Amino acid sequence: MTKPPLRPDLESLSAYLAPQLEAPVRLNTNECPFPPPEAFSRDLAEATARIPFHRYPDREATALRKGLAELTGHPVEGVWAANGSNEVIQHLCLAYGGPGRAALVFEPTYSLHKLIPRMVGMEIVDARLGEGFRIDERAVEAVSEHRPSIIFVCSPNNPTGNAQPADLVAPLCEAAEGLVIVDEAYGEFGGETAYPLVQEHENLVVVRTFSKAFSLAAVRLGYALASPSVVEDMAKVRLPYHLSALTQAAGEVALRHVSAARDLLERIREQRDRILHELGGFEGVEVFPSDSNFVLLRTSVEAPVLWQALLDRGVLVRDVSAYPGLERCLRVTAGTPEETGAFLAALPEALEEVA
Ligand code: PMP
Repeated sequence: MTKPPLRPDLESLSAYLAPQLEAPVRLNTNECPFPPPEAFSRDLAEATARIPFHRYPDREATALRKGLAELTGHPVEGVWAANGSNEVIQHLCLAYGGPGRAALVFEPTYSLHKLIPRMVGMEIVDARLGEGFRIDERAVEAVSEHRPSIIFVCSPNNPTGNAQPADLVAPLCEAAEGLVIVDEAYGEFGGETAYPLVQEHENLVVVRTFSKAFSLAAVRLGYALASPSVVEDMAKVRLPYHLSALTQAAGEVALRHVSAARDLLERIREQRDRILHELGGFEGVEVFPSDSNFVLLRTSVEAPVLWQALLDRGVLVRDVSAYPGLERCLRVTAGTPEETGAFLAALPEALEEVA
């Protein structure tokens, strides 16, 4: 027997294929360049030793969600945790999307905001960001026109780096019949959170992650702040015991080390600003303002060629030139001072080689 036919609406879908390459300097996935503090690893080892591994984990992730409620000041009934913010978004799409429904995205933006809705059979409505990659009044018009079931706002936006004006989120929520998801994966680095609006708008969810500012990309932990009624809906679409005891333990321990994570933020912003500053005066390179831990840049040469020339010098960045409106653009994550220095040294050489 040959393989059965794929679901027809998945035929045109490509798997998430951003290359995972080994390179001496990896500045391609917007991770935190610094590992979590040693005390985190020590405390996690202790916590892990106490896990009853023969038992299923706490299905409600009670302690972790309580910790997140304390961290954010949000009622625990409105806190949801899952395997990365990607899975949080998947739960939201399963609950509020599905076949016959549409998701609205403002391009250029995070590719998973289209891919996850497609996985659950949704249509995508592509709108465009306005001047400076900001959402503007036309976003509210697009909501009224297309009446999507899910609207994504990414702030700060990946891959452009800028935060979105928070004052447009309320009108979006008012215009929307569906759910507004504000993805704040990079929110710790800059911009204004939409969180205060969650109390007033039952159709607003703020999604955050431990993968970036918490230095825990390997753990796969993300969370949502929503109304308790939304969290009840999300429970209907998650698999039982979706969050392993190891993940829950890592999250609980991480919450005891929040101040160490906060201390790193300024060091990361410094490296981001160093990239912006050094490349700002560089002929042939345009840098875009960033409120996140990465920088979008445009050069006069083809991005894949420059990407390869950087990789040949041991520096891996992200080629984002296939996103609408991002011709000849690369995205570089702020690294350690050494990593950032290696990128800044490699770029002029690479540009000279490919010119
Ligand atoms: N949202 C945005 C905007 C991102 O850039 C990323 C990671 N690249 C994610 C969500 C997913 O993060 P995670 O699943 O690791 O929490």
